[in-house]
Amino acid sequence: GPLAPPAAAAALPRPPAKPAVFVPVHRSPEMQEERLRLPILSEEQAIMEAVAEHPIVIVCGETGSGKTTQVPQFLYEAGFASDGGVIGVTEPRRVAAVAMSQRVAKEMNLSSRVVSYQIRYEGNATEETKIKFMTDGVLLREIQKDFLLRRYKVLVLDEAHERSVHTDILVGLLSRIVALRAKRLLPLKLLIMSATLRAEDFTQNRRLFPTPPPVVRVEARQFPVTVHFNKRTLEDYSGECFRKVCKIHRALPAGGILVFLTGQAEVHALCRRLRRAFPHARRRPPDDGPADTPEETRRFKKSRARAQKAQAAALPQISLDSYSVLPAGEGDEDREAEMDEEEAALGSDLDLDLGDEGADGGEEPPDASLPLHVLPLYSLLSPEKQAQVFQPPPEGARLCVVATNVAETSLTIPGVKYVVDCGRVKRRHYDRVTGVSSFRVSWVSQAAADQRAGRAGRTEPGHCYRLYSSAVFSDLEPFPPPEMARRPVEDLVLQMKALGIERVVNFPFPTPPPAEALLAAEELLVALGALQAPPKAERMQQLQRARLSCPITALGRTMATFPVAPRYAKMLALSRPDGCLPYAITIVAAMTVRELFEELDRPAASDEELAALRAKRARVAQAKRAWAGRGAALQLGDLMVLLGAVGACEYAGCSPQFCEAHGLRYKAMLEIRRLRGQLTTAVNAVCPEARLFVDPKMPPPSEHQVTCLRQIVAAGLGDHLARRVQSEDLLDDTWRNAYKTPLLDQPVFIHPSSVLFRELPDFVVYQEVVETTKMYMKGVSAVEIRWIPALLPSYCQFGPPREQPPPAYCPERGRVLCHRDSVFYRVGWPLPAVQV
Ligand code: ADP
Ligand code: MG
Repeated sequence: GPLAPPAAAAALPRPPAKPAVFVPVHRSPEMQEERLRLPILSEEQAIMEAVAEHPIVIVCGETGSGKTTQVPQFLYEAGFASDGGVIGVTEPRRVAAVAMSQRVAKEMNLSSRVVSYQIRYEGNATEETKIKFMTDGVLLREIQKDFLLRRYKVLVLDEAHERSVHTDILVGLLSRIVALRAKRLLPLKLLIMSATLRAEDFTQNRRLFPTPPPVVRVEARQFPVTVHFNKRTLEDYSGECFRKVCKIHRALPAGGILVFLTGQAEVHALCRRLRRAFPHARRRPPDDGPADTPEETRRFKKSRARAQKAQAAALPQISLDSYSVLPAGEGDEDREAEMDEEEAALGSDLDLDLGDEGADGGEEPPDASLPLHVLPLYSLLSPEKQAQVFQPPPEGARLCVVATNVAETSLTIPGVKYVVDCGRVKRRHYDRVTGVSSFRVSWVSQAAADQRAGRAGRTEPGHCYRLYSSAVFSDLEPFPPPEMARRPVEDLVLQMKALGIERVVNFPFPTPPPAEALLAAEELLVALGALQAPPKAERMQQLQRARLSCPITALGRTMATFPVAPRYAKMLALSRPDGCLPYAITIVAAMTVRELFEELDRPAASDEELAALRAKRARVAQAKRAWAGRGAALQLGDLMVLLGAVGACEYAGCSPQFCEAHGLRYKAMLEIRRLRGQLTTAVNAVCPEARLFVDPKMPPPSEHQVTCLRQIVAAGLGDHLARRVQSEDLLDDTWRNAYKTPLLDQPVFIHPSSVLFRELPDFVVYQEVVETTKMYMKGVSAVEIRWIPALLPSYCQFGPPREQPPPAYCPERGRVLCHRDSVFYRVGWPLPAVQV
């Protein structure tokens, strides 16, 4: 393969040392003064010497020491961006890529054309770009286009301690690319930056780095933080946070408060509660995110009215009108925020009891002490609103930032003296075997808890209040598991195969993913036709040795160029004939955004609200039925609804009003539009003859096109096939109206929000199974049994040639039985796996 052993780099003679370059930067004196206070400035020389002498350098330093903002500037000044070179910096979070590019541009007095960012959906990089911040996924895709990454003279992998999957893979790949570039006398420097002292993951891994790279440690100017544990560990950590902040604010000396909660909904609830309790500092309209439903607007208005009464005397100039309610989706460009977004998307049970108007509403009397300046911080928050946390609070007020995990290492908030840590973090949990995902609030690791505590000691000695007992702390796992160990890896395996890495198990991962995850990925990709199936006999053996190494197919190569998960990529790859591409692109875009419809199954605070919710639910259900259509269209199910909703919305000019009226998330709609544009470009690149153009509007698909789309969807989601349990094999009452999938033993059901909820087709494919009160399939589409042998041969058992009886499902074998010479539909681009 193209991967040479890294030892080659060490063996080569070092290129002659270049004379020191110094590229001047014209910073403002204030900026320069601010920089000089950062601990990393005293390590500039050590870092740059290490970079000059070694191809790979690790920089370790506490959060806030200046790694992200300063190291790119050191490199710039040392000439790494002269002669057309680019300094690349990767971040696991989009928030950080955007915020840091803006900050560095400002510090260096350069425009965003020169210090730019690139995230999946957008960027402002130009020909002039010299420092480019990007998400790690973006760089991974660039490697696909140019394995040697010739544009870059130096790459900085930031936040390597986060152990995001993409950063982990980049570390592995770049360890080899650095060696290859040295061979070609085009040296590439690599810096790995990490916030914790756990550099051993990288330095101790001999497969990754046979010669351990040098580590430059930045001494943090950290003040002591006194950690206080609660005696008892309460379940209601949100309420406990509230009480703790009140106590701190009333009793303790000046200094900012930083609260760690787990998700956007919790953050909002606590912000509102605190603002009600300490209403003085509300000099601005509530800006903790858009009120995107009438209920929320009403809630905003109510609490606003209450706050207003309280502050009428103090601030008579504020009238109700001066609080304009932000339009839904205002400014939220950032798509990172997996957690926040999907929390909203899944309408998870987690949010249900967070309604603030109920249990705790209004019980706290307004307080007369110091003003409290309450600000939310989470990744979906717009950059402008995020920037507020860096501003000093209004004169005489105390800053209180209520944040999710983003404040742990990615963003450093100045002036924090008190940290209130709920000790929990929200993580997406995947079940490896079944593919079921759910959001779980789980305990943080000890390392994360210490990181959070450390936020209190940046400017002076501080205090950290842990809302759990010290016994709980000592039971926490020392470090969080790397993301690689927690999520499916099929997209990565496909990417790596496309890069020519056939034996993925041999890849120098910093922490290899579990062998069964690699196997599951490879199996899925074989089933999708993206990898060549190994001959049967060999396969068993290979499986046992966990050494599958199927080469990529032409279809797989095409799939790898689309920036979506393999199942969706396959749909795109199949959609060329019959003008289906624009529709497939729309469906895939809508599915990738995950939840287009607003969550309407939430508890209402009042009868009036309940009535409004019910009315809206009915209206949305009606709209969904209309979009689903009848006959063939209805069989495409929820995906037809997506198509119809996007089409209808675009015809109506994609206005917030239309979305609001039809229960659609405006933000999601904008993202779909953006992704459609991007996917259209990607398809045109693979298949210029298709000559697609980006037109948000499109006529509804013809009946023939709908049939093709159903097959395309079935082929893409093939491993998510479910069969309705027939009355004769009903096991017991829990199986009424249930479906059986190959992987799950339990019954699964069509989600009540699905248009096929009452249709109950015999075979369906689904986008995902979500576990709430039951196992529910979402994104359901009906499949005809006669398509299954052609589209999903791995679910079939083929008999000897006969007179073509129709394929039949055989419950004992759990398979569809059919015959080899039956005639089946052919779909789209060649399907190498289909041999019927
Ligand atoms: P590290 O990467 O080591 O965690 P950073 O380079 O992110 O540190 O931050 C260095 C300093 O710059 C911190 O004190 C932080 O508060 C400050 N800073 C970062 N971004 C901004 C911003 N947008 N506005 C003001 N200060 C900022
Ligand atoms: Mg940083």
